[in-house]
Amino acid sequence: MSKTPEQLIRPEIRALSAYHVPDPGECVKLDAMENPYHWPDELIGQWLEQLRDVEINRYPDPSARELTAALHEAMQVPAGMQLLLGNGSDELIQMILLSVARPDRVVLAPEPTFVMYRMIAEVVGMRYVGVPLNADFSLDADALFDAVEEHRPAVVFLAYPNNPTGNLFDADAVVELVERAPGLVVVDEAYAPFTDASFMPRLGGFDNLLVLRTVSKMGLAGLRLGLLAGAPRWLGEIDKTRLPYNINVLTQASASFALQHIGVLQQQAQQIRSDRAELAQRLAAIDGLAVYPSEANFILFRTPPAQAGRIFDCLREQGVLIKNLSGAGAALADCLRVTVGTPDENEAFLRALQTCL
Ligand code: PMP
Repeated sequence: MSKTPEQLIRPEIRALSAYHVPDPGECVKLDAMENPYHWPDELIGQWLEQLRDVEINRYPDPSARELTAALHEAMQVPAGMQLLLGNGSDELIQMILLSVARPDRVVLAPEPTFVMYRMIAEVVGMRYVGVPLNADFSLDADALFDAVEEHRPAVVFLAYPNNPTGNLFDADAVVELVERAPGLVVVDEAYAPFTDASFMPRLGGFDNLLVLRTVSKMGLAGLRLGLLAGAPRWLGEIDKTRLPYNINVLTQASASFALQHIGVLQQQAQQIRSDRAELAQRLAAIDGLAVYPSEANFILFRTPPAQAGRIFDCLREQGVLIKNLSGAGAALADCLRVTVGTPDENEAFLRALQTCL
């Protein structure tokens, strides 16, 4: 008799729930931090014209040299630092952890934060330690330094700005953490297009710092492309966990094309930043809601007690899909997260929200 899944699948995998993505149906989609804008028609025409020449019968350039060089420049990676590309930054998180994974090793992150740090740590068989943020979602530096001392983590992840809270952590505390950490510190700058703050320029200043970026939030989520910046001696090792040809030919060609027109994406990010300010202001003016400051392309807000689930369902019935975080731990009780959309989408969301309240 062959083994059953219960006998064969590792207990830590069986204990996981698969990453759930709801079907948006016809809803206005404000749940996943996507850029709501496509490109002008003329640009779409030029892009499609370039794709004509892509040789889909051939394997892609395994190290995506042209795209890597374009990203190096576009992301202002300091001289002497290298890039490693992933099929989304999710894959890079997985590659980092695969390259250090041992059952006695710890991955540490402040919480609440991006759920994939925990999920991938568990998949690769490492121990995950979450250190609670303060009630206002700022970094509890003392608790974090104590946890680093106690657990000696192989990797610390810091989302900067943080998801789902939207804020930036105190930069001096982050620097002190990098100095105290015995292992790698990965500053995850997925939301870099929506803030002026970044650790990218300081990459060369620390032996154990890596900076993670993605093109997803800047308007290319469909391509699945992330990048890890850091010193060659780290990236050369982590690269060994990469599956060959992880960046497909269509992504390489399309991202290279998009980076030649990066002004369009930057303008969209600028628009989103100014619409974020207006959306935050209008949310804050609604009685009973607490709105958290955001440096990202989404806004976290807290509803009156025990209302978040009902409001989320009601918004969905009205055709607006956002993210319900009220089940994601005590710190996020009654919390909802809305992605900044187009002005029309934000208007539709606010109108529906008024009805639901
Ligand atoms: N890091 C953070 C902080 C995120 O919020 C996300 C996506 N929600 C990612 C990484 C993953 O991005 P991607 O895999 O699309 O590059």
